[in-house]
Parts: sequence; C-alpha cells; structure tokens
Amino acid sequence: MLKIGLTGGIGSGKSTISNILKKKNFIVIDADIVARDVLRIYPEIFENIRKEFGEEFFDEKKELKRKEFGNYIFSKDDRRKKYEDMIMPFIRKRICDLIEKYQREGVEVCFLDGATIIENNLHKYMDINILVWVDSETQLHRVSKRDNLTEQQVINRVNSQMSLEDKKEFVDYIIDNSKSLDNTKREVNETLKKIGEKYRGVECLKI
Ligand code: ATP
Repeated sequence: MLKIGLTGGIGSGKSTISNILKKKNFIVIDADIVARDVLRIYPEIFENIRKEFGEEFFDEKKELKRKEFGNYIFSKDDRRKKYEDMIMPFIRKRICDLIEKYQREGVEVCFLDGATIIENNLHKYMDINILVWVDSETQLHRVSKRDNLTEQQVINRVNSQMSLEDKKEFVDYIIDNSKSLDNTKREVNETLKKIGEKYRGVECLKI
C-alpha cells in the first residue's frame, strides 16, 4: 500500500484537498480526528494527564474537564508541548494501526492528513509526502475569515508552526492552493498523475 502524507500549515487547505481525494474514493486518515479518538481508545491517557497535570482537571465523576484542560494547555507553549509529547506515542500507534488495517483490507493508496507530519517525523514513515502550499497573504485572509480571528492572532498561530517554506525541502510534491478551487482540483489531478507514472503498478492511480 502506498502511504502518502498530506501536510501544510494552518488553513493551507489540507481538509479541502482531503475532501477532493475522498470524493475520488481515496482513503484519508485525518490526524485531527485520530488525536480526538485516542482519548476514547486509550483510557490510560487520562491517568497520564492526572499524573502530569494534576487532579484539578477532573470532576467528581473522575471525568476530564475537557474545556478547562484545553484552555490550560493551549495557553502556554511549554504546556502544549508537554501534552503533545505525552499524547504523540498514542497518536502514532493509532495511525500505524489504521494503516495496517487498510493494508490488510487490500487498500492500494492511503493518505494521512496532518498539520505536523514533518514536526513529528511521520513523513519518514510515508512513501510520498505532499505539501499543501498557500501564500502568506491568502493564508492570513482565509484563516481570519474561517476562524473569526484578527490578523495578529492568525500571525501568532502561523509563527508558532514550522514555515511552509521550510517544509518544502521535506516533501516530494507541492500543491499550490493559493488560487481558485478549480485550479487546486487540477493541481491535485496532476499530482496524482505524476505519482501514478512513478508507481505504475497502482491500479487506482491509472487514468
Ligand atoms: P487547518 O489545519 O487549520 O484545519 P486546513 O489546512 O485543513 O486548515 P482548510 O480548512 O481546507 O485548511 O482551508 C482553510 C480555509 O480556506 C477554509 O475556510 C476553506 O474553505 C478555504 N479554502 C481552502 N482552499 C481554498 C481555495 N482554493 N479557494 C478559496 N478558499 C479556500
């Protein structure tokens, strides 16, 4: 099975492109969904949260106060980092399990959509990596509109991530999502065609 990483930055268009791929019947693992699912799949994460961050984030029913905890960890970089370091092995395991499941089912191509594939070294586990690129001005405009944030708030979020320019050197293909949706669909098709030419045995990439 061909494993393809689809990465980018905040609002660069990963979900938009994942939706284009899903419409073409490709399997896409969404790392954001995995990050939520692991809390349900591995209850020991709650034990780790209790140990690392304290009892105060649990209510009388011993359930995590998700909103309070979320506000706490995302209010400071070092807290977020500590949480990410703790949860990442579970996310990695779940992604590997899903990939193995699809492999067993005979799926030919599986995409992984994740904003921090490169930061978490998951790109090395992929056969191919694609960067969804967008120019800074368009990114700023789209994210502030989508998330109802000020330009400065978007700039802070963009600056907390590895830049799209730095990510370019880790990937095999770049899809420019700065222009119209139709243009992006064309770029997706062209990229799939190029991958199909490289991996000639993959039936679903044959046009
Ligand atoms: P995040 O990682 O922050 O969830 P993302 O990389 O998945 O973001 P999207 O949600 O796909 O990015 O796109 C960000 C916003 O830009 C969305 O509101 C989306 O509808 C819009 N958008 C994406 N691509 C285009 C395009 N080519 N033309 C116009 N708007 C677009």
